[in-house]
Amino acid sequence: MSIQQILSDLAGHLEALREDGVKRVSVSRETLEAFGRHVNTPPPDPRLRLEKIAARIARCTLCPLHSTRTNTVPGQGNPAPEIMFIGEAPGEDEDLQGLAFVGKAGQLLSRMIERMGLTRDEVFIANILKCRPPDNRKPLPGEMSRCLPYLREQVAILNPRVIVALGGTAVHGLLGLETGITRMRGKWMSFNGIDLMPTFHPSYLLRVPSARHDTWSDMLAVLTKLGKPLPKPGTRSGEASGA
Ligand code: SF4
Repeated sequence: MSIQQILSDLAGHLEALREDGVKRVSVSRETLEAFGRHVNTPPPDPRLRLEKIAARIARCTLCPLHSTRTNTVPGQGNPAPEIMFIGEAPGEDEDLQGLAFVGKAGQLLSRMIERMGLTRDEVFIANILKCRPPDNRKPLPGEMSRCLPYLREQVAILNPRVIVALGGTAVHGLLGLETGITRMRGKWMSFNGIDLMPTFHPSYLLRVPSARHDTWSDMLAVLTKLGKPLPKPGTRSGEASGA
């Protein structure tokens, strides 16, 4: 129960006592001190909590990928974002820099975010896996199951209003669904009570530019869900290609 709920319940209880004619309530010094400590404890800073997770990821040896990585890639961005983008796994550029989505696919994602009227600093970007699979192969089920608790912790701290799952592997990792992304994309789903929009991975959009229109339509659905203004068609931020 949150401190706000406790205070609200306490106020209601005291009000009921007052209506019953109670003029005075005795409270021990120990109870008051314990209550004061609880009330005065500031909520943990999400940035610090995310840094602690990143530090644990940097030491992680839970799956064999730790032996081939250059850097871990915990993800980065706004610690209180409205939108969280989740991809598959770091590639070569990400492994070298320790940052998510900084290669060609990342640049495409950046353009898409900008065309949504946002910046990368306003969203959080992460992957299912925090270490690069050799030769950019798909994550193995055992790797995903060992790594997912980190992402779950991040999602719980970030508490975004919308998650955008980039590609079938992201949807598989988060929801256990193995349906092809072509059939899932554009349909609202839910992860731990958070609205989730599956769409194509930017790497796929680089290979199949004709799919960018579908992804842009998914991003417009995200903006609509968030009550944000839609970029005007024909303007740079409203081009149908979305990237
Ligand atoms: S991929 Fe995840 S589980 Fe595997 S070593 Fe890296 S951080 Fe640990």
